[in-house]
Amino acid sequence: MSATDRPRPLLVVADAGARLVRRGLVAPGDAVRWDGARVVVFRRGPVVCELPAACVDAPSRAPYLPRDSQPARAHPVVHPGVRRCAPRMTLALHNTLTRRVEPFQPLAPPRVTLYTCGPTVWNYAHLGNFRTFLFEDLLRRYLEAAGYDVFHIMNLTDVDDRTIKAARAAGTTLRQHTEPFVRAFFEDRDYLRLRPAHAHPRATESVAAMITLVRRLLDSGVAYQGDDGSVYFAIDRFPGYGRLSRLDLREIKVGARVASDEYAKDDPRDFALWKKAGPDDDAVGAAWDAPFGRGRPGWHLECSAMSLHEIGTRFGVQTLDIHAGGVDLIFPHHEDEIAQSEAATGRPFARWWLHGEFLNVRGTKMSKRFGNFLAARDLREQGVDAAAVRLLFWQTHYRKPLDFTDEALAAAGEGVKRLGEFRARLLGEAGEGGRGTGEGRLAELAAEFEADFRAALDDDLNAPQACAALFQLVHAGNRALDAGAGGAGAALAALDRAMAVLDVLPTPRAPEPDMARWIEAQVAARERARKSKDFKEADRIRAALRARGVELEDTPTGTKWRVV
Ligand code: AMP
Ligand code: ZN
Repeated sequence: MSATDRPRPLLVVADAGARLVRRGLVAPGDAVRWDGARVVVFRRGPVVCELPAACVDAPSRAPYLPRDSQPARAHPVVHPGVRRCAPRMTLALHNTLTRRVEPFQPLAPPRVTLYTCGPTVWNYAHLGNFRTFLFEDLLRRYLEAAGYDVFHIMNLTDVDDRTIKAARAAGTTLRQHTEPFVRAFFEDRDYLRLRPAHAHPRATESVAAMITLVRRLLDSGVAYQGDDGSVYFAIDRFPGYGRLSRLDLREIKVGARVASDEYAKDDPRDFALWKKAGPDDDAVGAAWDAPFGRGRPGWHLECSAMSLHEIGTRFGVQTLDIHAGGVDLIFPHHEDEIAQSEAATGRPFARWWLHGEFLNVRGTKMSKRFGNFLAARDLREQGVDAAAVRLLFWQTHYRKPLDFTDEALAAAGEGVKRLGEFRARLLGEAGEGGRGTGEGRLAELAAEFEADFRAALDDDLNAPQACAALFQLVHAGNRALDAGAGGAGAALAALDRAMAVLDVLPTPRAPEPDMARWIEAQVAARERARKSKDFKEADRIRAALRARGVELEDTPTGTKWRVV
């Protein structure tokens, strides 16, 4: 058979990227291109992406794509004649189940199902809670930038011990008490630029699914009704109990029970799935009728029922790709979620368990209980740029504790400013419609930066290293700009792709009304100058605006401006 009539080989299958990395043929940060039957690896530099023809019609046999063909979704780069088939496969994530960093591979690529335990809406979420939500935002954005189709579920815990206690103390119903905190959470989420989840199931609106789950567990014999009328999960009847939190099963006291939502790891017990209604529950409207008695769900049951319901009804599966939360949720919350879900379905509940470390204040976990907390809205009211909070968090790896200080926040604010100034310079240099790739030193720096940025995030979301690469680009890029180098358009595009993940550019400031009127007048004058082909005048106006921190962007629908 001659070389020409041989069938065009499908070079790689779904996990080929990871295999190439494991074999040492491709290192994180490398780019590859298909060349007939061969894979050509570039240590750095331009990439020509040509997929084997067969792949276009065979998305399930997904190839390992060159890094450069996986742009952030907000800034799609079109490679002529190339269709994207599947995400990159080089991302590795730390899995609490195995305590190892493992190549990430979802069950049904490019879809990734992600469940993150949401806020308990008994009060305002504090910055510690948002450290966890932000690490989950980074995870979600990076998966999306890598080409995955993420379905993100974040529940709202609006019934548990704390919400009932708080509603009772306030003399209101559960709904009345939690509603303002739900709204506040969404406001804080938007302030901190978290991408909204695709589904935000509320516990109180998911009780039917919870009752079904309890029935399944009773029917299968792993749950029992206690003499207090509540339903408990018998942990000694589920052989895998303790796997996530690495419990010493010899410590388990058979038949010992705990009704409260939170309890210590050194005292594992049968936990409540359904708690018999008490006077407080009925008083605040936190009791539901069920075949096994009037009561309310336990906190752990809520997350199992909501997540299984969402992925079951939407995708017909019973296994999540990723389940995430703060480290304090490993025990008992996530351990109990695994027990309930797997005992009911007979399937693994989640393939990857990711846990973020605490935000501390002088070494102590930020917590309402310790009174050392700062609400996200406090920062917003103080005029703190959300980008500074994000950058501050990115500068420590999500699996390392972070101590919050005003000084560190202020330093992050300076970093954000530098980034904004650098972007404004690039935009100024790139000029009209200057988003082309261009050539020159800045384009080289951009290619180096993107390789380093991806290598860092592929390595268990090493955001501090990604930030180091980013500020290296700012430093070297500013020098190149001083020297009049070309390639600003390519650098701008690379920066914007990175910002789709980190999102740390300064929040545009709203100018005073007088200033806004002046800017509008200048923009209109520039438009007139451009129409009459007086480009010198148009450039003069743009420079005058830039000197006052006003950035212009010419779009097909007109010129947009913002104050940076
Ligand atoms: P909660 O509203 O208490 O249910 O917590 C919501 C999320 O915030 C959970 O994933 C917790 O693990 C997380 N969390 C609570 N306190 C902190 C903290 N100080 N630092 C980081 N994450 C936290
Ligand atoms: Zn949960």
